[in-house]
Amino acid sequence: AYNFSPGPSTLPESVLHQVRDTLLEYGNAGASIVEISHRGPEFLDIAARAEADLRALLSIPDDYAVLFLPGGATTQQALLPLNFAAPGQRADYVLTGHWGQVATKQARPYVDLNIAASSEAGGYRSIPPASEWRLSADAAYVHVTASETIHGVEFRPAAPGGHPFPDTGDVPLFADFSSSIASEPIDVSRFGAIYAGAQKNLGPVGIGVVIVRRELLERAGQPRADIFDYRLQLAAESMLNTPPTWNWYVAGLTFRWMLDEGGVEVFARRNEAKAKALYAAVDASGGFYRNDVDPAVRSRMNVPFLLSDPALDDAFLARAHDAGLIGLKGHRVVGGMRASIYNAMPLQGVEALVAFMHDFQRRHG
Ligand code: PLP
Repeated sequence: AYNFSPGPSTLPESVLHQVRDTLLEYGNAGASIVEISHRGPEFLDIAARAEADLRALLSIPDDYAVLFLPGGATTQQALLPLNFAAPGQRADYVLTGHWGQVATKQARPYVDLNIAASSEAGGYRSIPPASEWRLSADAAYVHVTASETIHGVEFRPAAPGGHPFPDTGDVPLFADFSSSIASEPIDVSRFGAIYAGAQKNLGPVGIGVVIVRRELLERAGQPRADIFDYRLQLAAESMLNTPPTWNWYVAGLTFRWMLDEGGVEVFARRNEAKAKALYAAVDASGGFYRNDVDPAVRSRMNVPFLLSDPALDDAFLARAHDAGLIGLKGHRVVGGMRASIYNAMPLQGVEALVAFMHDFQRRHG
């Protein structure tokens, strides 16, 4: 089956094989990968390799720290203001979908939160032009969601006509890259902090990655427990307490797989081809299928689409499941369907979906 689930999402088959093989015994450790100590030489090696591979994959400059932390992206959304904003300091948020809104909920208790721009009134189908953003000169940071997993809206700095990330001057730009990290090359130095839950492009759920410009860690932030302190986590190499070792291991295997496949440039080309094929099928259906997102900012990772007759939704999902195409149900906030086509989804999976969509339309259109 091809798994189009938004996360936890499909993992490369070769990674799953390694996971299976190490479940009974990891190398010569005499114990399973889920049993070995995080302080032992085997795991310290896994952790060091995972960081080195992620650095190579994303071309992370040396003046950026990398943290591997338990919990997902939502946890980081709460920790960012605690670590980087003074109590009650202004923080700017740009809303282009559901997850930006969730980020504001996590941050609101700690900052003077300013919605600098929002496409909510239009149903989150676009990104407001940078000229309309009302940024605050004294903000601790500006927060954006690089790719909105539910609404299917993505900043596309590299695409002709795509929406670039804004220039926020001296105010650092923080970005939630949960659903698009490692899907194409990015210039990490444009960001103060990048964070992502692993369960889409980076591996299994239960661990998150934070990439942060080291100088920002000198900010006092707000009173917080040690365990919520990025600086202390960095000093302890993300092992202030027992880390999610297995998740970290599988994420590391996934980084290695992406490097072995040729790195983010290769995935950028593959992802472009997959997204193009799927949007073309939607757009050429004469309205039987529809995606209402501004074409300039359509996500390459999450493709939501509606059937013109929602009464057919259940039949579509059931027939798709029979055809080995799973995880296509849209999020309840927008309804309809959604195909998540992360790095581990091969072009053949998208071609199978497109063929199924044609066939379904022929029978029901
Ligand atoms: N941000 C984005 C863009 C997401 O897609 C998600 C989850 O799907 C989250 C944040 C929340 O992540 P988590 O469930 O890891 O907290």
